[in-house]
Amino acid sequence: MNSILQCLSSTKLLKDYVISKSYIKDINQDGKLMDAFYHLLTKMWSQTSNPVDVSPFKDIFQRLAPQFAGYEQHDAQEFLRFLVDKLHADVNRVYTKPKNLPVIDDKLSDNLLATEHWKRYLLSENSYILDLFGGQLKSTLQCLVCGNKSVTFEIFWDLSLPLPTYTSYVTNVSINDILRNFIQEEILDNREKPKCSRCKIEQRMSKSYSFQKLPKYLVLHLKRFQTTNSYRKLSTIVQFPLTGLDMSSFLAKAVSSPRKYNLYAVSNHIGTPFTGHYTANCKHPHGGDWFTCNDSSVTKIATPVTPKVVNADAYILFYEAVD
Ligand SMILES: [Zn+2]
Repeated sequence: MNSILQCLSSTKLLKDYVISKSYIKDINQDGKLMDAFYHLLTKMWSQTSNPVDVSPFKDIFQRLAPQFAGYEQHDAQEFLRFLVDKLHADVNRVYTKPKNLPVIDDKLSDNLLATEHWKRYLLSENSYILDLFGGQLKSTLQCLVCGNKSVTFEIFWDLSLPLPTYTSYVTNVSINDILRNFIQEEILDNREKPKCSRCKIEQRMSKSYSFQKLPKYLVLHLKRFQTTNSYRKLSTIVQFPLTGLDMSSFLAKAVSSPRKYNLYAVSNHIGTPFTGHYTANCKHPHGGDWFTCNDSSVTKIATPVTPKVVNADAYILFYEAVD
């Protein structure tokens, strides 16, 4: 929990939104979690090196999410997703969600269709948290018999990226390899065949992804925990850049989206799946120095920073758009 809270507190625009109390005008529901988050961040940023007691925040959070109660290890990414979702709900600009959503004309061009889907999503879910973390993924299905294409769009708040299967045998893989593996075309055949809307029967199809819109803050979760066969952790070193992550080649055609990113925080999982713990490496949003935070201390990372940040424990990467 501490590791994720450290990463979120280093998310500059989120920190500013909370600490400046801008969130108050957006309060929906009771705002209890957002208020607790405000008190936590205020304490975190008023002390320079002393770890902050997170228990008041934890109490409020656990009332909303009893599944995270107790002191046993929880997965950082599940916690992150849940927390971001609850913070979003607290400041959702939508008070009454529409019962019937508009039907979207699927004859529109892909990019117009994407915009319509995004607008439709905003009718129910619309917050500053979404403005910061929300991205849109496009998936394209193409019938390999008649060539008919269909696209669908989904919103993501973070991306869970499988490590390519061959990583069990190599020690080094790049974040670009992982992203390419994530979006690459796969063939749906045999029992996976979807129904083609033109052929009217199940056909062999290709399925591929691209990013329609990338968020201001891009959160990449490296799926190190494998549950097939036996439960284990992949200790592959993933090479990722601290500055200049270029997402251009993964974007759909002719879209307006951030493309270049700098890293500002990493949640690390140290140890085995059963006895591990989490730490965070975070870049100061103003000074630019990097710090390692664990439950009891905050230590400045000496330069060169890259070899200390890019290691086999890196689990969730937090990137900020620079363009
Ligand atoms: Zn077809």
